[in-house]
Amino acid sequence: PEPLSSLATIPWSWAARTPDAPCLTYDGTTRSWREVYDRSRRVAQGLAASGRGPGERVLYLGRNRPEFFEILFGASLTGWVTVAVNWRLAPPELLFVIGNARPKVLFVTREFLEKLSPVRDKLTTVESVVVIGDDADGYEKWLTCWPARVPPVVTRDTDPAFMMYTSGTTGVPKAALFTGRALQATFGAADVLGVTRNSVVLAALPLFHAAGLNSALVALAAGAHCVLAADAKPRSMLELAQRHRVTTTMVVPAVLKALVAEDVDRYDLSSVDTIGYAGSPIDPELLRSCLRRFGCRFLQLYGMTETIGITALAPEDHVVEDEGGKLSSAGRPLPGVTLRVVDPVSGEEVAEGVVGEVWARTPTAMSEYWEAPQETAGVRTEDGFVRTGDAGFLRDGYLYLRDRLKDVIISGGENVYPGEVEHILFAHPGVADVAVIGTPSDEWGETVRAIVVRTESSASLTEGEVISYAKEFLAGYKCPTAVDFVSELPRNASGKVLKTSLRRRYLPDTTGSF
Ligand code: ATP
Ligand code: MG
Repeated sequence: PEPLSSLATIPWSWAARTPDAPCLTYDGTTRSWREVYDRSRRVAQGLAASGRGPGERVLYLGRNRPEFFEILFGASLTGWVTVAVNWRLAPPELLFVIGNARPKVLFVTREFLEKLSPVRDKLTTVESVVVIGDDADGYEKWLTCWPARVPPVVTRDTDPAFMMYTSGTTGVPKAALFTGRALQATFGAADVLGVTRNSVVLAALPLFHAAGLNSALVALAAGAHCVLAADAKPRSMLELAQRHRVTTTMVVPAVLKALVAEDVDRYDLSSVDTIGYAGSPIDPELLRSCLRRFGCRFLQLYGMTETIGITALAPEDHVVEDEGGKLSSAGRPLPGVTLRVVDPVSGEEVAEGVVGEVWARTPTAMSEYWEAPQETAGVRTEDGFVRTGDAGFLRDGYLYLRDRLKDVIISGGENVYPGEVEHILFAHPGVADVAVIGTPSDEWGETVRAIVVRTESSASLTEGEVISYAKEFLAGYKCPTAVDFVSELPRNASGKVLKTSLRRRYLPDTTGSF
């Protein structure tokens, strides 16, 4: 029978239309749509055989592998919710996440089995653990136990289908729950990304985060061929792009920075048509050097786990000689998205050009934070907007982001946007990396502090030099009053600087050191 859920419709419809076309490639092996649909149905049977009904959770713990999609499609065929978790989590964090999601079945790649062993006894809801590896045991053997038939389960697109966790940049990660319908609403982004069934999409961002999952899923929904990289290592990405004639990929700015630092001319990247990037602010200088270096289209997406895509800066707006300053913008709302910029205190919409909190209403939004009604109420308004927690303003229909509200520094009553200060300091030749935060000050409430990573050739760069450099370009109240030098900034899987953990080191009751 034909599957009822929109996620499962992906392999079903492409297996019918282009059964022998490549669907997923990983580590030199390519599976066709027919094979992927066959394997997804076996997963569905395996889950359904437990006798548990729709709504049960199945958890995937691993780097990017094709089995992720077989599980996602299979689970949706039988109404189960797939939970994607960050494999970087430490055992106690994993225990928390698994305890919270309460999955019945756990799929884990062999490399992370050891990570689970200290907490295995405490995973009381887990009835079976299926190990994924390159051998014939585990998952491969498990698949052969089940017939490739759609189980006779009634599923609804308005039921939960997928759950993923926020990046945890500002605190503890939150679990966002999505219906099949919300995910289906994201597929329209194929147009924006420029993917069709002739595209070859390199999926290197983690599938447990919104940008990675969404770009891969949009591609598969369009019938494209998805080449998976276990993770976003620049060299292997370049090799895969050359070998598989990749047309499209999605990265985060930190990966873009690493890519442009490689000797890209050594690779034949003539097939590459579009590079999308998302996830954190990008330095316009980095963007300019990418535009010069890679002769392809660039596309920026702005979004968050809770909403998936919100705005896009189109390839046409990526112009090196950028008069209107669009390169520093996050672009215009995606189809179906309504944006509002409001005063975070009064909730009133602010005038064009005035910075406020960005709110977004979109059919792609999560239904709720999993089992957290209070947190859900905290981010969602009565008329269906999600409060992003990001500060920004609108100009001529374009959204300009100005840091997260939590990161804005209020010094002597003036708002300082760390991104503006970071942008100036980045341009200093001795600065390899920098984060600007507010730290408590008796005099000003908060004062601006820069945490700097020096370049290799600038070991002697001093605090005084950094401060006087800033003073050349910035109003006094925006300039750092203190500079600390570190060898590396704390970043999470998406390449975002963990400012909360940086700030914590300056709280009066901690003796934090680097
Ligand atoms: P947490 O919510 O757990 O603190 P997080 O907000 O980093 O973590 P995500 O949902 O992965 O988790 O990230 C969404 C955030 O990433 C957005 O709210 C925004 O601050 C930032 N972001 C995403 N895309 C862009 C972009 N194109 N430009 C600037 N910032 C972006
Ligand atoms: Mg967030």
